[in-house]
Amino acid sequence: SYEEWRLNPSELLFLKELGRGQFGVVYLGKWKETIKVAIKTINEGAMSEDDFMEEAKLMMKLSHPKLVQLYGVCTHHKPLYVVTEFMENGCLLNYLRQRRGKLGRDVLLRMCQDVCEGMEYLERNSFIHRDLAARNCLVNAEHIVKVSDFGMARYVIDDEYISSSGAKFPVKWSSPEVFHFKKYSSKSDIWSFGVLMWEVFTEGKMPFETKSNSEVVHEISQGNRLYRPHLASHPVYKVMYSCWHEKPEGRPTFAELTVTLTDLTEMT
Ligand code: ADP
Repeated sequence: SYEEWRLNPSELLFLKELGRGQFGVVYLGKWKETIKVAIKTINEGAMSEDDFMEEAKLMMKLSHPKLVQLYGVCTHHKPLYVVTEFMENGCLLNYLRQRRGKLGRDVLLRMCQDVCEGMEYLERNSFIHRDLAARNCLVNAEHIVKVSDFGMARYVIDDEYISSSGAKFPVKWSSPEVFHFKKYSSKSDIWSFGVLMWEVFTEGKMPFETKSNSEVVHEISQGNRLYRPHLASHPVYKVMYSCWHEKPEGRPTFAELTVTLTDLTEMT
């Protein structure tokens, strides 16, 4: 039976390797001879494939100018392919690092706004990202930042990534209720968004630079937070800091943050 989220492999052309991710190699490709796409190959044993394919039907319906669009999944043979919108300027973290000293504060704020708008759409649709960070955002040819990999953390098979004491668990982006109890919500995404803003305004520094994951848990539990980046004005720092309220209900919503960030751009 024909299902529109299932893509026909004969319509896909592989052009070149773009990078490697948690699931496997990512390629630049063409779909139906015209549309440039990113093709993620899923290594055997790297993903809960059946659960993902069930969810992919819903994820295809999520569509917003600040979200990397899922076009479909190719399930005709192994490995599985996940086909998404192609983003010419690659991942946001590398983009920031490669342009250190060259990006104005207005540009940095615009990037945070882009991500906030994409996240506001997810929040409105009760969809939790679970791994928001600069490494999971991508930049297109027009230098627009879009949120990628939303919800994908649920399908990773890798103990180092799943266990909160594992080496790959994103503790530095996690709220207390996530690193203690794995209690994910749009409010835990908000915490991660505050850390993403910090990554943007440090032009791609590693949060809590030399600290280990267990040291970070200790610091956060003591009430300590990331410092104000030199490029962040006090009002900008106030916004990221508001995301790091110990209690989820004390943090803003993405709808509120979108308004706050717009007010900030109008001030400058
Ligand atoms: P993971 O599954 O670990 O999140 P990524 O999505 O980060 O893997 O993919 C690995 C790399 O492939 C990225 O750092 C980026 O360079 C490249 N890449 C992934 N998706 C795209 C895309 N849609 N457009 C352009 N490059 C991409």
